[in-house]
Amino acid sequence: MEGRMRESEEIRRAWADVVATARRTTADGLVVGTSGNVSARVGDVVVVTPSGIPYDRLTPRDVVAVDPEGRPLLGDLAPTSELPLHLAVYRATGAAAIVHTHAVHATAVSTLVDELPLIHYMAGALGGPVRVAPYALYGSEELAEHALEALTGRTGCLLRNHGTLTYGASLDQAYDRTAQLEWMCRVWLTASSVPGRAPTLLTPAQAERAKEKLRGYGSP
Ligand code: 13P
Ligand code: ZN
Repeated sequence: MEGRMRESEEIRRAWADVVATARRTTADGLVVGTSGNVSARVGDVVVVTPSGIPYDRLTPRDVVAVDPEGRPLLGDLAPTSELPLHLAVYRATGAAAIVHTHAVHATAVSTLVDELPLIHYMAGALGGPVRVAPYALYGSEELAEHALEALTGRTGCLLRNHGTLTYGASLDQAYDRTAQLEWMCRVWLTASSVPGRAPTLLTPAQAERAKEKLRGYGSP
């Protein structure tokens, strides 16, 4: 591997975690083939999945890293085509990790509504009702702009006719938010598909109370 910077232990660990998370998106059926992408930020270095390479083929020597402007720092493989999207989210938020997928139910919902209806209190885990960013070409600056707008006050959004985008303080947190988002979309689609019935929804006040309570959820 030809490097333009020295690879630290921290970068090596981030690459292993990025690859493991990307493999999880395939194993869990959130993407097929080389769809989707994953990244993690280590200081001023962004470690990202390469474009169009099956995740099971990636080795520890394939690390791809860029600076916050997208200039290559490490690796010979081209970074994900969604680099503009990942870099825009890092610039605008405190994200440490980002997961983008083409999860089936989430992508289906992105074609039906402008916001995922408040079907479940776990919307609180993403900051509130999850918005749908208007369609733009994959890999474009326009898509990055639309996503940033939809992410206002949220840690995840849907990308119309495309998929999901979530971020977090760790790869595990970003991944979990994607999984929760896909699950909520599945619940809403399932409930909405019963003929002659419409699902009950939470009120904004009920969702807000759950969001506050979720801050103290689990073990400290
Ligand atoms: P990459 O293989 O370039 O990451 O593209 C996959 C994708 O999901 C584009 O939106
Ligand atoms: Zn995509």
